[in-house]
Amino acid sequence: MGKLEKILLCFTVAIFAIIVIQYKNRVEDVNLEVAKDIKKIAITFDDGPEETYTEKLLDGLKSRGVKATFFVIGKSIQGKEDLILRMYNEGHLIGNHTYNHVELNKKSNEEGIKEIEATNKLIENITGYKPEFIRPPFGAWEKDQMNKTNMFPVMWTVDPLDWKYQNTDYIVKHILSKVKDGDIILLHDIFPTSVDAALIAIDKLLEEGYEFVTVDELMLD
Ligand SMILES: [Zn+2]
Repeated sequence: MGKLEKILLCFTVAIFAIIVIQYKNRVEDVNLEVAKDIKKIAITFDDGPEETYTEKLLDGLKSRGVKATFFVIGKSIQGKEDLILRMYNEGHLIGNHTYNHVELNKKSNEEGIKEIEATNKLIENITGYKPEFIRPPFGAWEKDQMNKTNMFPVMWTVDPLDWKYQNTDYIVKHILSKVKDGDIILLHDIFPTSVDAALIAIDKLLEEGYEFVTVDELMLD
């Protein structure tokens, strides 16, 4: 190899090295930007546990590594304690949805507290965890009436009315067209259409870079 060829070779290698280093820096910058841009949302399920659909949902969430929040009805727990324990063991947040699915603002203070405490007690007996969050049925929550319970009410920001339409396509489309960073999606795990829609929407939103967190994480942010 002549002297000139050696110089040319060295020069080519040097240029190549510079290109590789610059490319690598750019990729790292992009990764940093992606990390800053993580969009967090919570998916919540009311009115369970339900024997078939809650189990199917838990399987789907597990295989996707997604955490959800379940607001369960006290009177539905009996005979489905294993589902409550599974929710807890698999990292989902369990919240209270009253014992009889009542409109708390139409109950006396005493009755309301009874509804909440009876449900908390059942969940605590199964999991050892005492719920701190409540989704008041029908969104009926009066701060003054209920502040003695020390529960945080959790409302919602995306509501596809899944219980009314019971149509998987409609529910998926509604969620995907409305959802944005920080949203709380409301669904009911007592309908097969809602469970199917949830899993389809989750796949799509994971692809879009959303991270699913439990509602406590959104509220602490
Ligand atoms: Zn409900």
